[in-house]
Amino acid sequence: MADHRTTPADFEQLDAAPLHASSWRAAIPVAGFYAAWCGLAFLSHLAGRTTLAPTAAALLLGAVVITNLLLAILNLPASRAAADATVAAAQTGLAIAWASVYAVLAEGPGELVPGMYLTAVLIAFSRTSAARLRDLALVAGAGYALSVTVRLLAGVAFPALWGEALQCLGVLGILALLVRRAHQDEQRRASLENQVDRLQQEVERITRNAERDHLTKSFNRQYILDALLREKARADRTGRGFSICIFDLDRFKSLNDEHGHLVGDRVLTVFSNRARRALRSMDAINPTRFRRALGRLGGEEFIAVLPGTEVDGALRCAERVREAVARHPVEQDLQITVSAGVAEYRPGESIPDLLTRADQALFAAKRSGRNRVRVSAVRPGRPAGDEPARPTLRVVR
Ligand code: GH3
Ligand code: MG
Ligand code: MG
Repeated sequence: MADHRTTPADFEQLDAAPLHASSWRAAIPVAGFYAAWCGLAFLSHLAGRTTLAPTAAALLLGAVVITNLLLAILNLPASRAAADATVAAAQTGLAIAWASVYAVLAEGPGELVPGMYLTAVLIAFSRTSAARLRDLALVAGAGYALSVTVRLLAGVAFPALWGEALQCLGVLGILALLVRRAHQDEQRRASLENQVDRLQQEVERITRNAERDHLTKSFNRQYILDALLREKARADRTGRGFSICIFDLDRFKSLNDEHGHLVGDRVLTVFSNRARRALRSMDAINPTRFRRALGRLGGEEFIAVLPGTEVDGALRCAERVREAVARHPVEQDLQITVSAGVAEYRPGESIPDLLTRADQALFAAKRSGRNRVRVSAVRPGRPAGDEPARPTLRVVR
């Protein structure tokens, strides 16, 4: 009945929607990284601190542009957070690689290099998991160590080796703080998600309880009356009708008197389970988009709402439930039966009128001996409740 609710399919659709906007947003930190460091490297070159031969600079710039464009092209189909995290890690990996190439090719004190490694890791910050960020920080550290080793092996003198070592320690410290922060964020996010999950489950439980009858777990009177109003509105709008069956357990008062109220309560639950199963099995044979619903009107009276079902189908449903109830005793020496009144919605009639007609049909079923189904006339004119069910449905025992 709750056809307006969000279904898992809706979430899947959302997930599948391409997030081009986020792909472009993902390019901003990378563009910022390269723009800033190219500018600083150029200034350092002009100032004669760390210099890079023009050919090497051109080759390096070309390689940076080509590799990042390639990554952007591969990134285009990325539409999920997991894919974006991988892209972020790849962008950081590339930035670390090119920073290492710069460190090896450039001549001079190389004071920009530690900052390059630090900001390369920043590209992936908050876009990937803390564990991956830690790995990237380790890769950055290893890249830096490698570039220093290569420079040492190449016989490059470090005029300010201590200064560089201090910078390096500072960078490592900041990286450690970043990883810790990412880890804390991740824990906070996980705990929030946990809370949201628990709240959702609680809301579902409360909604379910508000809709259900406490004893039999079938829908309660309020829910079923609302469902009837919704069905009526849908039928008036679309012209697609519906039917109802009212069930009433036979001689339930004497059952209570004979066996006690507790047994009576159990019988109500058994009836509700058997009826629901019978209705569900009919749903499986002839699936309609809107499921049949069983509700408890009160006492030992139940109602089935059958969307998109004409009177013939409704008769079959009611008969199936009647049969399922009568087929086996609830326990030894405790046989129950049920009578039912069926009515198909007449366009424009009110819900109380529809219920009254089904009730009259039920009364006719009781009058003619119980354990049977009677139907209200489909068209006005005939006295309601007097239209007999088809002969095959007139089960007399
Ligand atoms: P009929 O075949 O004509 O329907 O006879 P009946 O005895 O079933 O009809 P009646 O409406 O007179 O009796 C209904 C009985 O259902 C009265 C009441 O004791 C019992 N009843 C109503 N609600 C509950 C309930 O929640 N639990 C139990 N155990 N009994 C209930
Ligand atoms: Mg009754
Ligand atoms: Mg009864």
